[in-house]
Order: sequence, then structure tokens, then C-alpha cells
Amino acid sequence: MPERPTDALGRPLRNLRISVTDRCNMRCRYCMPEEEYVWLPRASILTFEEIDRLAGIFAGLGVHKIRLTGGEPLLRHDLAALVRLLARHDGIDDLALTTNGILLAREAGPLREAGLRRVTVSLDTLRPERMQAFARSARHGDVLAGIGAAAASGFDTVKLNAVVIRDYNDDEVPELLEFARSRGLEIRFIEYMDVGGATQWDLERVVSQREILDTIARRYGPVTPLREDDWAPAERFRLPDGTTFGVIASTTAPFCRTCDRSRLTADGTFLLCLYGERGLDLRELLRTGASDEAIAERIRETWISRTDRGAEERAGLADRGVLHQLDSLRADPRREMHTRGG
Ligand code: SF4
Repeated sequence: MPERPTDALGRPLRNLRISVTDRCNMRCRYCMPEEEYVWLPRASILTFEEIDRLAGIFAGLGVHKIRLTGGEPLLRHDLAALVRLLARHDGIDDLALTTNGILLAREAGPLREAGLRRVTVSLDTLRPERMQAFARSARHGDVLAGIGAAAASGFDTVKLNAVVIRDYNDDEVPELLEFARSRGLEIRFIEYMDVGGATQWDLERVVSQREILDTIARRYGPVTPLREDDWAPAERFRLPDGTTFGVIASTTAPFCRTCDRSRLTADGTFLLCLYGERGLDLRELLRTGASDEAIAERIRETWISRTDRGAEERAGLADRGVLHQLDSLRADPRREMHTRGG
């Protein structure tokens, strides 16, 4: 196996998030708040065979973690078939999925059987009426059913993700933690990020890691940080009774210096950062007959010149506001978080 490339800041290429669709069946205000979107043309979306070929090339370069994202990845018909293909690659020992959970009850078993190892489900509120108002979805019951099915399907881990937003769900932090704890699941609280598509982002509505920890400590007692994996985005903590949880402080304490994550959009653009402006068009290479070796070389060249530190640069801005206005998102839908995979 060739040596795993490292970027200009010494960060290895080993973690790939693959968006399999830009479509979603929710409209969360922190990601897809608009009424209308410009969708990627259908013919541009990578087939499972194309994704599988790229996964093999990335595995040959040293990528060993793949996470399937979207949009909502379970909107892609028969996602288990893709998982089955990806699970065959020897080098890929961590195959995970992030989903909003609406369709998970029916898919959890087939996905596990196909070789999926880990699942993360987004759960921002325990109140159906809040989900209706905030994400325009009446399917809260389906999300809970999906979490239950995943927990019963034998995955290595099932985690919950909750984006915490002031005056939306910040009063639910203890309840969400309790929900996860009572089911033996780990929850990660995520700071509201100013990514592409978050056109209503406002610093005032960001609930910081510090505030989240203070809220939890008031309810449960001292919170102890766990120091395990410097490359993981979530900092993990332990409560006095042994319950663990995570906080992803991308907005107030970004962790770009240890970021080994790369992204593949549903139409095959290789992106180096959630905030990155430019990408490498791998679909073009695939569809014009480039060899695996030639594609691997282009990926390697792209990665070794990587200097991206998007969230750290945003955190350094004196006057931080929305990242992209609506017209710029419509001009280039690849700037949307739902297209590049959050
Ligand atoms: S902002 Fe970019 S470099 Fe920083 S952690 Fe996120 S993806 Fe990685």
C-alpha cells in the first residue's frame, strides 16, 4: 500500500464522508431553511458502482473510515446495496452512517446485515411540535422508532446528535441527555455552525460548549473531560455516574488542526473542508476513462497541498455573520451543507 498522504499541516488522509444524495425529507432551519432549492442534476449523481470504485481508490491511499451522509442518505434507494459493496474493501474498517432517522426503522436491519458498523441519528428535540415548527416534519414518531430499531440491530455504536440552538432547544439539553442515557446510547451536543445553507445563522443563537457543560453540571454534578482520541471532532465527558456524552464545539473552539476529514459530494466533487470553496471533480475523471492510478495521483496531489482551516478562520473574524447569502448558494449548490454532507 502506498504511504498515506499527509497535507501541508501534517494531517493524514484517512477519513472520507460520502454524500449519496443532496435531497432531504426534513427542512431543519440550521441547514435547509428555504422554500426552494437548486438540486444537483440527476445524471450528475454518482452511481453506487462509481462510489464503490472511488472508495477502493481512497482505501488504497489509506482511508479507513467512511461515513455515508447526505442530504438524507436513506432517501437513496437500497442504500444497503452500497454498504455491501463498501464493506468488501479490506482497508475500510469503520463504515458509518449519519441519518435523520425518519426511514431508519425499516432500514436498520438490512444495513447492519450489509456490513454497516455504526449509526448516528440526529435528534434535536423530544417534542414533536417543535420538530414540526423547526424542521417542517411531522415524523417525530418515526425518528424515535428508527432510533429504537438501530439500538436493537447490533451495531457497534448508535449515537445521537443534537444541534443546540438558543431559544429553540437549549432548554432540552438535560432531557436529551436523559433520553440517550436511559437507552444506553451516547449523545453529542453540537454547536450551531455558520456553514453554507445556514442562512439564518446568528452568533447570538449559538449555545457554546461552556454553556452546555454548565447546564449539564448543574443537573448531574461535576463533568470530567475524557482524553482519548485527539483526532475525533467531539470532546467526550463523563458524569459522576459514568454516563458519557460528547460536545462538538466547531463554532467556539474549532479543531481544524487535527482534521483528517475529507468529503465527496453526491456528484463526485472531492472537498477538503466543510467550508472549502474549491474541489477536485472526480466524476469527470471517472466518466472520461481515467485509470485508478491516475485518479489516486490527483487525489494525493490535492490532499498534500491542503491548508484548509475553515472553522478556525471563521472563529477569527471580528464581525461574524452568515457564510453565504442565498443568491450565492443558488449560483453554486455545492456550497450547501446538504450537498457536501455535514
Ligand atoms: S472547518 Fe474544515 S478543516 Fe476545520 S474541522 Fe471542519 S472540515 Fe476540518
